[in-house]
Amino acid sequence: MGKTNISWATDAWNLIGGCSMQGAECVNCYAMQMAGTRLSNHALYRGMTRQTAAGKHVWTGDVRMDWSREALDQPKHWRKPRWIFVCSMADLFHVKVPFAFVDAIMDTIRATPQHTYLLLTKRSLRMAVYVQSATNLPSNVIWGASAGRHETAQERIPNLKTIHGLGHKTFVSYEPAIGPIDWQPEWAGAIDWIICGAESGNQRRCFETAWAESTRDFCLENQIAFWFKQNSARLPGQDDYLPGANNTAWR
Ligand code: SF4
Repeated sequence: MGKTNISWATDAWNLIGGCSMQGAECVNCYAMQMAGTRLSNHALYRGMTRQTAAGKHVWTGDVRMDWSREALDQPKHWRKPRWIFVCSMADLFHVKVPFAFVDAIMDTIRATPQHTYLLLTKRSLRMAVYVQSATNLPSNVIWGASAGRHETAQERIPNLKTIHGLGHKTFVSYEPAIGPIDWQPEWAGAIDWIICGAESGNQRRCFETAWAESTRDFCLENQIAFWFKQNSARLPGQDDYLPGANNTAWR
């Protein structure tokens, strides 16, 4: 693993294969389709999906971790600073991932202060539990929660608030945005960065530019960095212009 096409990171560091869906945002999970097709013979993903009668690849619910030194040490070989999306093909805080594995990842992060690590989960409560219980967490991590609509934002941003309150940086990935989010004033102090993007692909669901505009305005009003990833388009990253978006401000 290494370079990624995801615009807000430079690299992906994948150590986990397998997941299970966590709500409507996961329906068209890119990782699930990749694991069932192009990556189906990769050691991390082999057997981690099954095919439905309709021909769709879905997670079995099993999760596999790569505990090898080679995998865990990979970022140590990258000398220049990178923005690393940790486990872009899975969810690091899935219940089947033991905290001991997260600890092993933290050891590498601590040993590589030249990099910035982006952790993104749909299991933000478990992430907050981890952060509250861990000691000596590295400062080069940005802890992220994914929320594609208001209901999940309401559920997950309070967990980010807990993490932010402990002195850590946080971000929200509003992608795939599948409904509006009514950004609440009390969330402003808990978030350092918001990424917003419509769903891509042939199965993409409805997106309204107004959802991105109100997110941008919330960010501008509250000095939150804002990254507009894309409007509704077939390919990821297509149509990524939104007036007033300050994509590069954070980095
Ligand atoms: S949590 Fe992430 S990896 Fe898991 S099913 Fe949902 S989108 Fe896919």
